[in-house]
Amino acid sequence: MRTLKVMIIAVLVTVLLPQTLFAWSLHGEMTRVVLDSLPWINRYNNITITEYSYKDNSPYNSKYKIAYLDGNIGDKTSAKKILSLYADEPDWGMDDGLSLSPSQALTGGSQGWRHQYFLLFGGILRLGEAPDRALHFYNMAVVAFKAKDFYWGFRFLARALHYLQDLTMPFHTNPGPTMLLISNLFDINGLTAMVSNHHFALEDYQEYKIKKRDLLYIRSLRDTDPIKVNDVWEAGFELANRSKNYSESLWNLQCKIFGDNLSSKTRVQIRPEKVSSGALKNEYDKIIIGSLIDFSAITKGFLRYARELFKNID
Ligand SMILES: [Zn+2]
Repeated sequence: MRTLKVMIIAVLVTVLLPQTLFAWSLHGEMTRVVLDSLPWINRYNNITITEYSYKDNSPYNSKYKIAYLDGNIGDKTSAKKILSLYADEPDWGMDDGLSLSPSQALTGGSQGWRHQYFLLFGGILRLGEAPDRALHFYNMAVVAFKAKDFYWGFRFLARALHYLQDLTMPFHTNPGPTMLLISNLFDINGLTAMVSNHHFALEDYQEYKIKKRDLLYIRSLRDTDPIKVNDVWEAGFELANRSKNYSESLWNLQCKIFGDNLSSKTRVQIRPEKVSSGALKNEYDKIIIGSLIDFSAITKGFLRYARELFKNID
C-alpha cells in the first residue's frame, strides 16, 4: 500500500517536469575551464578526425546527424578541443523522441530519462538512467581506444562526461521539496510552472556567473582536486546521491532571492544581474559552487580513470 502511494505521488510529481531542462548550461565551456588545470591532456594534441564507424545498440533519434565541429575528416584536432566541444553533444537531440521506458514520461520524456536520475523518497524510487549512459559511452570509448581511434575515444569520453556532469545538478536528481510537490498534486499545470521556474532560475544564474567569469565560480572549476573513480556507474550514483540533498535548500533560497513569485504558477523569468549582495546571495553561491566543485572533481577523476585506456597506446 505504501509503495503504491509512493508510486502514485511520484507519477504525479515527476510528470510535471519540463521537457527542455536536462543540463547545466555550458557543459562544454565549463569542461574547458576544468581542463585548463589538467596539463597532461595537452599531450594529446595531434589527433586525426575520423569518421564514425561504430555499432551502438542503443536507439537514438533518427533525425540526429553527427556533426564535426572541430574540422573535417582527416584534419587534426586535440583531446582538449574534443572534450570541450562534445561534452555538450548529448544535448543536441540524440536522446529526443525515443521510447525507452514505460516510465520515461515521469521524467519529461526520453531525453529527461537519459539525462537525469531521480532519487525520490530517500532513494526508494529511482527514475532515469544517466549513470547507465555514462557507463555506456565509457564502454564505447574502450572499443575506440582499442582500435587506436583517439578521435572517437575522446569523443565518447566527452559524451560520458556529459551524463556524469548532469548528475551534479541538484534538480536533475530531485525536482523540488517533497512536501510542496505533494501539496500541489492536483494542479498539474501550476506545479509544472513552479518546477520550471526554479530549474531555469538556477541554470540562468549559473550561466550568467560563468559568462561573467566570476572568480569564485571559475576557481571552483579550475582548482578542485579529482575524486577517485573506481567504477563509472557507481561514481554517477554517488554524485546523484549527493546532489539531491542540495535541491530543497536551493529551492528555498531561490524563493527568498528572486521572490515568492518564482513559486507562482505562471512562468517567471529571473534577472541574474539584479541579485543583490548579502548573506542570501552568499549562501546561494556557496551551494552552486559546491555543485560545480563536484562537476570539476568528477570531470578530472573520470579522465584520470579513463587515462588507463590510452596512456600506453603509441
Ligand atoms: Zn544533459
